[in-house]
Order: sequence, then structure tokens, then C-alpha cells
Amino acid sequence: MTRSTAFTEPAKKHLGQHFLHERGIISKIVQAVDPQPGDRLVEIGPGQGAITFPLLDRHRELTVIEFDRDLIFPLTEAARAHGTLEVIHRDVLTVDFTALAHNGGDNARLRLVGNLPYNLSSPILFHALEHAAAIRDMHFMLQKEVVDRMAAAPGSKVYGRLSVMLQAYCQVTPLFTVPPGAFRPPPKVDSAVVRMVPRDPATVDVRDHAKFEAVVRDAFGQRRKTLRNALSQQCDAAAIEAAGLRPDARAEQVEVAGFVRLANSLLG
Ligand code: SAM
Repeated sequence: MTRSTAFTEPAKKHLGQHFLHERGIISKIVQAVDPQPGDRLVEIGPGQGAITFPLLDRHRELTVIEFDRDLIFPLTEAARAHGTLEVIHRDVLTVDFTALAHNGGDNARLRLVGNLPYNLSSPILFHALEHAAAIRDMHFMLQKEVVDRMAAAPGSKVYGRLSVMLQAYCQVTPLFTVPPGAFRPPPKVDSAVVRMVPRDPATVDVRDHAKFEAVVRDAFGQRRKTLRNALSQQCDAAAIEAAGLRPDARAEQVEVAGFVRLANSLLG
């Protein structure tokens, strides 16, 4: 059987395939990334190359991680006209970004880019966080509702576990909104591009990631509950007060630094 060099397969829903076609949006993404000589660019889910080829035209070298085997051959063939493409045919959740960065030699922290499969966006974000020290920055297209949650501040209705976990480790900046018509097939919801820059590990105060995760998870487990009740498995009211928080406050009122202080103080 000969393999086609054209992208003939229909979009696969189970792989979250919504292919970008709006040139204006694609250029805005490339401008936001603004690749510089020596950068180590890695795109997650290149699909049919909507962002891949313009990035290659600008940067000449790019690594992509794609799970859909039907796309690998046409993508590799089409890329030849644009630059050097390294294709990793894998589920991105199994890719060790730290090892990938080290393959590039010293000082090769990765710059991740991707119009992510929306069904996997949170797992991909948390996977990237595990490798934050190996990542310089990330530019991702996600559902707008997810970007709103990622960047939300205390007091907002959408401030929650995702906001606190990501903001503790990264600076999160929403860049611009993208309407459904920019994709084929169009998704049902608006999308948005977000920039995330991992904080210098020396400035991240979280002393124990697992404890921090558990405190944030329980605090937001039932949003209506006070911290005293929501965190009853973790600590008592006195411990909450000792960390400078009000036991009768709700999680949505507590800033990121407050959760960090509380989790650290529970380590003894
Ligand atoms: N970048 C292309 C674009 O903007 O047109 C495609 C974006 S599409 C929303 C998501 C891409 O991620 C698809 O190419 C899909 O096959 C790929 N994908 C889905 N699940 C994946 C996984 N677990 N690992 C790597 N790639 C995945």
C-alpha cells in the first residue's frame, strides 16, 4: 500500500482535531512566540501543519509531537519545503520534556507551542508543569473557558484549582480570543491563546508539591464550604489561622500565596 503525501483523512473527533485555517490567527501565534536564533521549539499536535510550516519558515528547525499515525508521513513530506522537522510519533503525555531538553545540550530549555486537543488540555498542562524546569515558555490554544480559569484572580467565579496550581508555578497571560470559524471543523466554543512562563524554581515557595496539591484539591473540593470544613482532613482551624488565613473564608477568596503558606506550614 502506498502512503498518501496529501492530508486526505477527515478530522478525528476522538483526537480533538480542529485544524486552524485563519491566516491572521496563525501569524498572531507565530508573532507571539517570536522565535529567536538558538531557541528549541517543540510543537504539540502539529496536525496538518497549520502552525508548523509558518514556524519552520521563520525558524528552520522544529520538533513536533503527534499521536495520529495517519498524519506523520504527509507532515514529514510537506515539511521538507520549509525546514528541518523532527517528528516524535507519541502520546505527548508520555514524552519526557526534561530528557528532550537535555538532548539539545546546555541551556536548551524548551519553548512549547500547540493548538492543543481540548479533551486533553488539563492533563497536558499538568504534565508540562512536572517538567517546568526544562521549559522556558508555552504558547497554547485552548478553550477560552479554560484560559479564563487558568488566569482567574481570587474572588472570581472561575478562580479554582487550575488557577492556583498553574499560577503557583507559572506566570499566566491570556493573549487573544479565537472564534470557532477559524478552525475546520469549528469547535462549539470560543478558544483563546495563552502564554505561560514557568517561574524561576528558586522563587517558587512550594516546599512539597504533593502536600500543596492535596490542600488545594480539598479546599476547592466543595466550593461552598469554609476552609475549616473543606480542609478538615488536612488540619484544624488553629493551623489555618497560624498560616494567616481565616478559617471561615472560602477557597475562592484565598490568594495563591495563602495556599502555599498553608501547605508549607502543615509540613511541620
Ligand atoms: N496544530 C494543528 C492546527 O492548529 O491545525 C492541529 C491542532 S488539533 C486541535 C490537535 C492535534 O493534537 C491533532 O493533530 C491531534 O492529532 C493531536 N493529538 C491529539 N491527541 C494527542 C496526544 N495525546 N499526543 C500528541 N498529539 C495529540
